[in-house]
Amino acid sequence: MIRVNDNFRELPSVYLFTQISRILAKYREEESPIPLIRMDIGDVPGPIANCVADAMHKAVNDLTNLNSFKGYGPEQGYSFLREIIYLKDYKERGIDIDPSVIFISDGAKCDLGNLGDILSKDCKVAVMDPSYPAYIDDNVIDGREGKLEGNKYSAITYLKCKAENNFYPELPDNQVDIIYLCSPNNPTGSVLPKEELKKWVKYAKENHSLIIFDSAYEAYIRHTDLPKSIYEIEGAKEVAIEIRSFSKTGGFTGIRCGYSVVPKVLTGYYSNGDKVELNSLWSRRQTTKFNGASYISQRGAEALYTDEGRKSVKEMTDRFIYNASNLRKLFEDAGWSVTGGTDSPYVWAGNPFGMSSYEIFETLLKECGISTTPGSGFGEEGEGYIRLSGFNTKDNTDRAIERIGKWLNDTKHKSR
Ligand SMILES: *Cc1c(COP(=O)(O)O)cnc(C)c1O
Repeated sequence: MIRVNDNFRELPSVYLFTQISRILAKYREEESPIPLIRMDIGDVPGPIANCVADAMHKAVNDLTNLNSFKGYGPEQGYSFLREIIYLKDYKERGIDIDPSVIFISDGAKCDLGNLGDILSKDCKVAVMDPSYPAYIDDNVIDGREGKLEGNKYSAITYLKCKAENNFYPELPDNQVDIIYLCSPNNPTGSVLPKEELKKWVKYAKENHSLIIFDSAYEAYIRHTDLPKSIYEIEGAKEVAIEIRSFSKTGGFTGIRCGYSVVPKVLTGYYSNGDKVELNSLWSRRQTTKFNGASYISQRGAEALYTDEGRKSVKEMTDRFIYNASNLRKLFEDAGWSVTGGTDSPYVWAGNPFGMSSYEIFETLLKECGISTTPGSGFGEEGEGYIRLSGFNTKDNTDRAIERIGKWLNDTKHKSR
C-alpha cells in the first residue's frame, strides 16, 4: 500500500502564490476590458548582466572540451565561488567566517525546506507574522505544526509584527527552538537594525535556539547602518544559519543559485544529549541528497562579484527600489499605513477603509486591472494590507501608479 505523508493534509490546499496565479489566469480568460499589470510579482523581470551571460557561455564551452569538462562537482559547491563569497560578502565587511562553512545551493527556497532534515520533529518553531509562506509550510510537511486551529497551527509560535513597532517581531513569551527571521523582510519590507538582531541572538543563546536568517534581499539595503548579515552581531555564529540567494539580487530566479552559511561553532543535541555540529549534519545531508548546483550557474554567480557584476547588481536593485519607492509615496500620500520601498523591493500598504486584504486585492484587480498580493496570505497580522512589488519595468510601474492614483482619488471623493 502506498502510504503517504499525512502532514500534507494539514497544508493549505495550494501554495499562496499558486493560488494568486490561478485567480489571475481566470481574469485573463474572462477577457476583462483592462489589460492586467502585475504588481504582485515576487520574480525579477530580468535581464541578467552581460558579464553573467558571458561567464555562463564560457562555462558551457568548458563542457565541450575533454580537458575542461566538468561532471559532478563538489556537493558543497566549487571553491572558486565559495572563496569569492567568503572574501566579498564576509571578509571585506569585517565578518570572520571561513569558506568551509559556505554551502552553495540551487536556491534559498530549497535550503529552507531541506534544513528540516537535520532538525528534530519535536523542535518548537517560531515564525514572523506576516512572513514568507514557505517557512510554515516546510514545517507542516515535516510535522512540526501541531493542530490547525482557525488559521493557525497550535505548535507554531507566531511572532507578531505590527506597524507601531516597524514590523519588528516580538520576542516570544515561551521557549522556542527554531526561529525564522527574514530581513529585509518579504512581505513587509522592514529591515531589522542591529539592536533588534542583538535581542534575538541573546534570546537564542539563553534558550539554546537556532535562528534561520533569510537575507535573500540583503543587496537592497542602502542605509549603511543596517546589518546585511546576522554575523555582524557578536555571538551570532553560535546560534544562526544564514541563507542567501542570487535570485533577487542578480536575476537568478530561473538560473538557480544561492548559499547557506552553517558555522562550525553552531551545535545541536541528539535526543540522548550527545552534542553535534550542525555543519557536519548539513554536510552529511547534502552529500547524500544533493549533487551540487550546476557548474554553469556557479560560474554565472561568480561573475556577479566582478566589478562589472557588482555594478549590475547595484543598478538592478536600484531600479526596483526606485519603483517601490514611488509606489510607497503613492499610498503614503493617500493616508495608508506603508512600509518598505526604501531598503527593499516591496511595499506593504495597509488600507484606511477597514477593507480586508482580499477586498482590496479584488477591487484593485476589477477596477484598475492591477494585481497585488493580499497581505492576509502571509499571516493573520497581514489582514488589511496588500503587498506590491517593485519587480517591474519603470513603464509598467508608472502606468500602475497612474491607475491606482486615480482609484485612490475617486475613493477619497466617494467616502466624503
Ligand atoms: C524569493 C525568496 C526566496 C527564494 O529564493 P530562491 O533562491 O529563488 O529559492 C527565499 N526567501 C525569501 C524571503 C524570498 O522572498
